Amino acid sequence: MKLTFHGAAKTVTGSMYLLEACGKRILLECGFFQGKRKESMDRNRQFPFKPADIHCALLSHAHIDHSGNVPNLVRQGFTGSVFCNHATRDLATLMLEDSAHIQEYDCAFINKINKKEGRNLPLAEPLYTMVEAKAAVQQFMSVAYDRTFDIAEGITITFCDAGHILGSSEVILDVRENGRHVRLGFSGDLGRGQNDILRDPTPFEDVDVLLLESTYGGRVHEPQELAWSKLSEIINQTINRNGKVIIPSFSVGRTQQLVYALHELTESKKVPKIPVYIDSPLSVNITEVFRMHPECFNDSTNEKLRLNNNPFGLQSLAYIRSVDESKSLNERKDPCIIISASGMCEAGRIRHHLKNNIGDPRNTILLVGFCAPQTLGRALTDKQPQVSIFGEKHRVEAQIEVMDAFSAHADHNELVNLVKKSTGSLEKIILTHGQERHANTLAASLRETHPKSQISIPNLHDSIEL
Ligand SMILES: [Zn+2]
Repeated sequence: MKLTFHGAAKTVTGSMYLLEACGKRILLECGFFQGKRKESMDRNRQFPFKPADIHCALLSHAHIDHSGNVPNLVRQGFTGSVFCNHATRDLATLMLEDSAHIQEYDCAFINKINKKEGRNLPLAEPLYTMVEAKAAVQQFMSVAYDRTFDIAEGITITFCDAGHILGSSEVILDVRENGRHVRLGFSGDLGRGQNDILRDPTPFEDVDVLLLESTYGGRVHEPQELAWSKLSEIINQTINRNGKVIIPSFSVGRTQQLVYALHELTESKKVPKIPVYIDSPLSVNITEVFRMHPECFNDSTNEKLRLNNNPFGLQSLAYIRSVDESKSLNERKDPCIIISASGMCEAGRIRHHLKNNIGDPRNTILLVGFCAPQTLGRALTDKQPQVSIFGEKHRVEAQIEVMDAFSAHADHNELVNLVKKSTGSLEKIILTHGQERHANTLAASLRETHPKSQISIPNLHDSIEL
């Protein structure tokens, strides 16, 4: 019984782990590696195993760094099933198509530029096309939370709520081989708990081996209770200046959480009713998937839905799909809120909104998510006086505000607390999905709370015998 770490080892991207047990090879996650362009393309294109040899794949959730390379796996000969929660399948369907669309668009753009500049380079090709993304989804088999089922002789799996995004799951694998029974708990990405919409992450029950994410090891988020008051303060100050609030946001999770918070703040009259625009076609479709999966919501959200109160549709809210509608937002002179993707400001319509609003000191740019180094989002978070958008320099005159209370990830203390609440021998705790220094800080705390556990932080392609 062996686990090999083919991604998200001492880094946060490209989740992919290979379990070899009971004569089968089972892939846990099949995520995109995101980094420098050439390295990313090479790593994503070549798998360190034969896709045709994989019996089945398991996905914890739909984020592209966990699911994005499934169409490529299928393209290269994988014929097995991809198991995940129902909502994850529906979200992944949209996100994989969106990922294919972005790749096709980017490659066409690069090829056009190369041709124009007279560069004699090989044609850029997407890792997979829209057609291949649609075909890959045919291999998905979805299951409800807390239902245990066989994926191979001797191996059963159960998905439990991870509270990170809609459909996000911890995966519990019970492996029975040569008279031994090992229970492996895989965290996927874990939420903070006390989420406005989702339930709390489930403590692991009776696990021998825990494969745990460590994204925010060593870091503590702002308390969630302060999130709404800080948000209303920022909005009210901007309205008083007669400005606009521009919020770059990831399409899944964060956008719906913001809409929910804005709904509650306007209902309770903490902020006045001003127009709110969700300008991202993917966010619009994803919000529809949210409406289809009330089984993933916490009790209070379900209660609000029962009372016919639509927490994802403010009266003053407009979901924007077309480019023309998006452009017309530039002409608006009154205060409004524009939420648009991408969260790190590297792609999508948000770049147009930033370009049009960054030079006006009445406006606020509110950053609510993690922005990787080298991204426009990071430059704004770091309050650089000047940033580059579409190759042009812009002075940052708008107010910059940063909030991390809406983070979809558990922080250091929340991770440690979840492990404390978990049961079983916890003989091995393996930390992945975190930069080395963050994983090290988390490991130090867990060595104190769990002195009997063997705690490791594997390198890329390392294997651990279970
Ligand atoms: Zn995630």
